[in-house]
Amino acid sequence: MPEPGVRPGTVKIQVGAAGICGSDIHEYVGGPISVPMSSPHPLTGETAPVVFGHELAGTVTEIGPGVTRVDVGDRVAVNAALSCGRCDSCAHGWTNVCRSIGFHGVTGGGGGFAAFDVVPESNLHRLPDEISDEVGALLEPLATGFHAVDLSGARQGDGVLVLGAGPVGLMVVLACVAAGIENIVVVEPSATRRSLAAVFGATRCLDPRTESVVDVTHNETRGHGAAAAFDAAAAPTSLADAVASTRPRGTIVNIAAWEKPTPFDPTTLLFRETLLRGSLAYTVGDFDRGVAFAADHAATLERLITRVIGLDDVITEGFDRLAFERHDDIKVLVRPGAAPSAASTAAG
Ligand SMILES: [Zn+2]
Ligand SMILES: [Zn+2]
Repeated sequence: MPEPGVRPGTVKIQVGAAGICGSDIHEYVGGPISVPMSSPHPLTGETAPVVFGHELAGTVTEIGPGVTRVDVGDRVAVNAALSCGRCDSCAHGWTNVCRSIGFHGVTGGGGGFAAFDVVPESNLHRLPDEISDEVGALLEPLATGFHAVDLSGARQGDGVLVLGAGPVGLMVVLACVAAGIENIVVVEPSATRRSLAAVFGATRCLDPRTESVVDVTHNETRGHGAAAAFDAAAAPTSLADAVASTRPRGTIVNIAAWEKPTPFDPTTLLFRETLLRGSLAYTVGDFDRGVAFAADHAATLERLITRVIGLDDVITEGFDRLAFERHDDIKVLVRPGAAPSAASTAAG
């Protein structure tokens, strides 16, 4: 790929770190899902092939005409959500459900798995010194967690249930902690992920193969049930478990992309007027809250990074390994500046 050039209102970034996301793996194995194949994406004007990588941070090396908020040398994280600014959703401030929603690094317009990336100025968040490029690359999934917790309506004093402790489930745990929620039950078969969830603030972690999600959640909430349940697992029983574990008028937030339709009995929603809703990505405000949280919790967030690889290893050590091999990885980061021999497994 030729090195991209700046255009009016855009900024060139030397990519410091870019995360591989579960949705990247879905596109790789089962896609195309969101990658525009036959007609150009309305916001980027691009069709495949596109550059991937939507979780990234780096240093500004050049600014285009009209850019005023950032300057050369600034360190920034990229808010990947692209919105039109003209539709009814955007008018409400629901930019993450814009009628033309796109994602930088998925639907064209550039991406983070490259030495340099060009991004609209409006999609940048300046990073304080406390946030490294590696932690900066985690802000995108962190903002997703903040958005989901916000939509759930859960608040201080409530009990919540988080199904799945992959990167997004773990970010939901952190966002719950940030919201002052002290009673957090996490369901996760992997012992490694359960122990990280506990470090992140989960008060009770259980293996669904050996314990009942519904019984444990009711015990942990003194019989009330969870105020909110977050499905970041997309497991066959997770929606039914979520409904049965929530209190009257509780909310279930689906953050997971399901690979195929799943049997679900909507009648179960009637008895306690359970609300089932989706949560997609984040708004600028969610991202800002993530930056503020990460500045104070950088060392905690770093524990998500289980592997750092160079750009030349992105297929073998990144996509293929995550998709087809048994692995204990949580978040794999690509450092485009790193030589292939610098591929390493981070501590923790
Ligand atoms: Zn993602
Ligand atoms: Zn819009």
